[in-house]
Amino acid sequence: RTVYVNGEYLPEGEAKVSIFDRAFLMGDGVYEVTSVLGGKLIDFAGHAKRLARSLDELEMPHPLAEAELLEIHRELVRVNGIDEGLVYLQITRGAPGDRDFVYPDPETTTPTVVLFTQAKPGLADSPAARRGMRVISIEDQRWGRRDIKTVQLLYPSMGKMMAKKAGVDDAWMVEDGAVTEGTSNNAYIVKGNRIVTRALSNDILHGITRAAVLRYAAEAQMEVEERDFTIAEAQEADEAFITSASTFVMPVVEIDGVTLGDGTPGPRARRLREIYLDESLKAAI
Ligand code: PLP
Repeated sequence: RTVYVNGEYLPEGEAKVSIFDRAFLMGDGVYEVTSVLGGKLIDFAGHAKRLARSLDELEMPHPLAEAELLEIHRELVRVNGIDEGLVYLQITRGAPGDRDFVYPDPETTTPTVVLFTQAKPGLADSPAARRGMRVISIEDQRWGRRDIKTVQLLYPSMGKMMAKKAGVDDAWMVEDGAVTEGTSNNAYIVKGNRIVTRALSNDILHGITRAAVLRYAAEAQMEVEERDFTIAEAQEADEAFITSASTFVMPVVEIDGVTLGDGTPGPRARRLREIYLDESLKAAI
């Protein structure tokens, strides 16, 4: 596999990053994951926009223009022959000579930019989407700026392990009695023709897939209600689902051992997945 590191395309075994890199020492970096379908990028502009926001929130310089980032994404997809899969992009504050809590001077330290691809055959025609996911709830113990897409993913990683040990697919995180989001996705319930999902704030990541799905709700004859919901309300909902760049719209069929409906993916979640895939493919670049 060919990867990109700081201006160079290299075989993955030859790519190197300093041990003083602030992402390695302090989790001081941001990332994006863009999916690839039919060799094309899904909602690249949305991901580029959120990346710019993450960088701004952390006072990090923008090392590359959007057009240059697009070119690198496309080149990696091409050289690695990705038909279905992902492009991972990470930008860190770089590697100053010493470890220091204070940000280094951006004039003297250049950001580290890394991109690589992951092939994921069956991303769109997914067996998991046909089956539906089972989730447990866990306490949300992350930091308070979840709107910034940083590489500090230890708690989500712990959450995925809790789910794995419980024999289910993922975890929904709960704070002050309300669901925030999934470990790596936004969470939704469906009641009648209404999609209910937590409103945007610093408490959750502003999902690019979330924005798209809420835009497409009308096409599925559905209304959107952005508000808090509890696990108990979710367990009584008609349907539930999650969204993320790598899962698109994924039905949820069980929450904390309680089966939703007949335990199979509901018609609205399936319809939203269909519309999302259709529309995103049309707009893919
Ligand atoms: N919420 C969290 C915590 C995430 O990590 C992610 C994606 O990685 C999402 C939501 C979904 O965001 P997107 O749709 O932009 O992939």
